[in-house]
Amino acid sequence: MKAAVVRDNSDGYVDIKDVELRPLKHGEALVDVEYCGLCHTDLHVAAGDFGKVPGRIIGHEGVGRVSKIADGVTNLKIGDRVSIAWFYKGCGHCEYCISGNETLCRNVENSGFTVDGAMAEQVIVDADYAVKVPEGLDPVEATSLTCAGVTSYKALKIGDTKPGQWTEVVGAGGLGNLAVQLAHNVFGSHVVAVDGNEDKLNAAKENGAELLINRHDDDVDKQIQEKVGGVHSSIVTAVNKDAFSTAVNALRPDGTLVAVALPQGNMELNIAKTVLDGIKVAGSLVGTRQDLAETFQFGAEGKIKPIVKTCKLDEINDVIDLMKQNKIVGRVVVDFTK
Ligand SMILES: [Zn+2]
Ligand SMILES: [Zn+2]
Repeated sequence: MKAAVVRDNSDGYVDIKDVELRPLKHGEALVDVEYCGLCHTDLHVAAGDFGKVPGRIIGHEGVGRVSKIADGVTNLKIGDRVSIAWFYKGCGHCEYCISGNETLCRNVENSGFTVDGAMAEQVIVDADYAVKVPEGLDPVEATSLTCAGVTSYKALKIGDTKPGQWTEVVGAGGLGNLAVQLAHNVFGSHVVAVDGNEDKLNAAKENGAELLINRHDDDVDKQIQEKVGGVHSSIVTAVNKDAFSTAVNALRPDGTLVAVALPQGNMELNIAKTVLDGIKVAGSLVGTRQDLAETFQFGAEGKIKPIVKTCKLDEINDVIDLMKQNKIVGRVVVDFTK
């Protein structure tokens, strides 16, 4: 079967190769991939940024149908549509796995990095960790919910987002655009969107953001304090460390900063503000199986709609170039159905 694998020199591109998968083990299922989104995380894997993995099949935004099950599989049957996410599986018995924080498991496996991923005609999954995709959800859109969607949803949960309160979404791109939709349509909160790109701000407005601020303004935090009295939570998806300091200053007392983006370096945190205003700072990493199932359901109900378009597997290196040039709005998804 055809698969996109990391090159031997980890130069940031992939080779399309014929690969034979190993036989299924107890508790595993084989999935015929229908669609798989290409994510910036895949580009990092292909470039060896997290450690070199030559020969690894990339892909962690996969959706497909179960075509074979091994012994011990009780939750899936042939024909079920399932997803392949970055969180491939946890150990299942550590403190984090049993307390609803499985993505923090120290022995986690990640699709398309520590194990072969879904940018291939077929992929092996651990059945217990494969989250079903509801039939009412478009499978192309489901690929984006598997990654950006669940990450945004989890961040809003971590931020304790409540109806009627103000949520700031910093960075209105792939993740932020979905965070705006979820904050407005699912959590019922008022949304402030901050971005440097007018098109992205306009998209945020269409998705329900009530206050739009250009991040290049030098008084972003002051504007937010003056106009809405500060925000209850701020979800930072912008890969820019200064955005984190600004977001702290945009919080109202008892507010929560949720860090999602991963810029290099440290964020500045004013100690007096943190103590006197009771500020909370939390990191948020993808989401659990349950978070993903909930995200899919909101997608099926039309409350969250990612921007997607499809391409063929052999166009993937051209897509990587476009992604590096920041020329893609939304997500390009490889179509394995044709
Ligand atoms: Zn991703
Ligand atoms: Zn664990």
